[in-house]
Amino acid sequence: MMEILLAKEMGFCWGVRRAIDIMERAADEHGEVISVGPIVHNPQVVEELKERGVRLGERPQDNASPVAITAHGVGPNVLEDVESTGAEIIDGTCPIVTRSQRWARRMAEQGFTVLVFGDPEHREVKGVIGWAGNMALPVRDGDPLPDPFPSRVAIISQTTQSPERFSKFVSEVMARHVSTISELRLVNTLCDVTSHQQVAARELAAEVDVMLVVGGRDSANTRHLLEVSQEEGVAAHHIETEAEIEAEWLHGCEKVGVTAGASTPDSSVDAVVRRIEEIATGLEVAG
Ligand code: SF4
Repeated sequence: MMEILLAKEMGFCWGVRRAIDIMERAADEHGEVISVGPIVHNPQVVEELKERGVRLGERPQDNASPVAITAHGVGPNVLEDVESTGAEIIDGTCPIVTRSQRWARRMAEQGFTVLVFGDPEHREVKGVIGWAGNMALPVRDGDPLPDPFPSRVAIISQTTQSPERFSKFVSEVMARHVSTISELRLVNTLCDVTSHQQVAARELAAEVDVMLVVGGRDSANTRHLLEVSQEEGVAAHHIETEAEIEAEWLHGCEKVGVTAGASTPDSSVDAVVRRIEEIATGLEVAG
């Protein structure tokens, strides 16, 4: 009998729930809002919200509908663009991301070069970099450190990075550049939600035969859940929907673990569990 175990913490974080609530209320009130980029990295949720009146748009084009900022936040240039159209701004930026943006700006204003540890292509990182103007540099895990290395440096992190990687990065900076650094400010901008989800995924991965990690392909925190699961030496698969589960992954497994990224709704997890149950029944019958 196959056992399905769920991670103790997973799925929609409060920051994403909050942004969705804000946007749904605004859409109910105004008939439509235009979201700058996807609200969450999850195509199914984006589709459901579209039906509710939250339309996706990369740039504000007219002032007919209010423009919503997602939980990932944006840089000041995007806010200025929106303001120039006269559109109302509905701000769904997660307060933890707002804090990170404020630190980036404050450090830059004080003359620090701001290193943002994270994915340079991620919208949150782009936004945070924007708040530090030309004083910020994104550094992806494994990228070479800036050369020459700045003397006054502030380090912050994309909120969804793993604490282990961030501390490894900081240690590396110190080990290599302690002689050139005159002042180092370290601001912990990691989000508890994602680190708790990563711990829960790691714990679960250690006791199951296979892990299924549910979330959008573009979701950074979902990918991190996959990585921490794989680090436990277990087979782990990233899926967006239950349709992607391959029966052979579950063949011979007694325990299947399921976790989900911070932008994955409960309904997606429920559908995955139902599909595993179906496959398990099929395998039992065949066996
Ligand atoms: S993962 Fe954390 S920082 Fe990101 S939206 Fe959720 S609560 Fe906010």
